[in-house]
Amino acid sequence: MTTNAELFETAQTLMPGGVSSPVRAHGSVGGTPVSMVAGDGAWLTDAEGSSYVDLVGSWGPALLGHRHPAVIEAVRSAVDSGLGFGTSHPGEARLASLVRDRVPGAERVRFVSTGTEATMTAVRLARGATGRNIVVKFAGCYHGHSDGLLAAAGSGVATMGLPGSAGVTSAQASETIVIEYNDRGALEQVFAEHGESIAAVITEATPANMGVVPPDEGFNAFIREVTQKHGALMIFDEVMTGFRITEAGYWGASGRVEGWAPDLFTFGKVIGGGLPTAALAGRAELMEHLAPTGPVYHAGTLSGNPVAMAAGAATLENADAAVYAHLDETARTVADALTASLTAAGVDHSLQKVGNLFSVAFGTSESGVSNYAQAGAQEAFRYGPFFHAMLDAGVYLPPSVFEAWFVSAAHDEAAVDRILEALPTAAKAAAQAG
Ligand SMILES: *Cc1c(COP(=O)(O)O)cnc(C)c1O
Repeated sequence: MTTNAELFETAQTLMPGGVSSPVRAHGSVGGTPVSMVAGDGAWLTDAEGSSYVDLVGSWGPALLGHRHPAVIEAVRSAVDSGLGFGTSHPGEARLASLVRDRVPGAERVRFVSTGTEATMTAVRLARGATGRNIVVKFAGCYHGHSDGLLAAAGSGVATMGLPGSAGVTSAQASETIVIEYNDRGALEQVFAEHGESIAAVITEATPANMGVVPPDEGFNAFIREVTQKHGALMIFDEVMTGFRITEAGYWGASGRVEGWAPDLFTFGKVIGGGLPTAALAGRAELMEHLAPTGPVYHAGTLSGNPVAMAAGAATLENADAAVYAHLDETARTVADALTASLTAAGVDHSLQKVGNLFSVAFGTSESGVSNYAQAGAQEAFRYGPFFHAMLDAGVYLPPSVFEAWFVSAAHDEAAVDRILEALPTAAKAAAQAG
């Protein structure tokens, strides 16, 4: 048998850090990354044959659980007809219409392969359609790894973004303004100073990449109001929340009820059902600025890939009201047990929860975490020991305190019991961390 450690050692000689995406390397929790070889329902199996309840869900796509029979069947049947043709095919319109049925504002859908590509293209479209350059983003919101959107948090009210990565030029970063999340005053000030030059405000529907951070009551509607007033677009990044928080994403729980819509949506993760597909979508008149109908260029060899379209469509078709009710209930059960275990162990924390997405922050009970500064100031050192205690007990959590926990439709009583049994010991490990 090849061990996880041996696999990771080999991987490091072949790939930077041994991984294809950084968080997988366990940098912030330490120890050896686990190499998974199979998934079934709520469970993962690693290269050593150990099984885990999965609370990562492939970082979101596994809404129905791993190897859902309908999704596997749809993929098999698509594969039987060929892996892709580089032409139009009926599967694209099928998935696009499923998207529009759920999110009526998504009048036109452009498929891409990753969430990064979706937000990057949405930003280009916003600049092309408005003729303006500046994009406003919120500190701690993650919109993929395109250059302009990696701009990091600035301090103060409205700071010109500093490059968030080596290799991002200051010219690119200077066209991104970064402000704190949930800060209405900062948003107003940035528009007072730069209103004529702002193409768009991009925001996560609810931030979940600095841990889960709920928008203050009415904050998204406020972004809508301010952008509208100044002729800027609102890009609602639902790559994580889309088709997960409700059947219509986070917008289904906010904009739909409150009577507003953003100009553009971005989707990823669940929309591909586990295969690489993402999308941007919005009002027809705006989306038609994209090539070939308009002057804003976007293209993709694998965009709208038929196998990925089939996986996404089968996932959405099977994500019915019962699925969302189950996700909400499971998240509530696990989150309640999490906070009860930490409280029993005397660990100061806040449960960060929006619908069925949640995470924990340590040392933050006083006011919870409502922005990136607070997320960064928490006692993050408690998460490593907590994570490893859960892993030892057969529960696979995101290997970073800044990531959301994902439940699935396949998390049944056996899976939830394994989590509940593991929590008290892990809470003690968090208490003893120093
Ligand atoms: C995951 C994520 C992205 C990036 O998607 P990739 O497919 O990883 O490129 C963008 N925005 C949000 C909100 C995300 O959670």
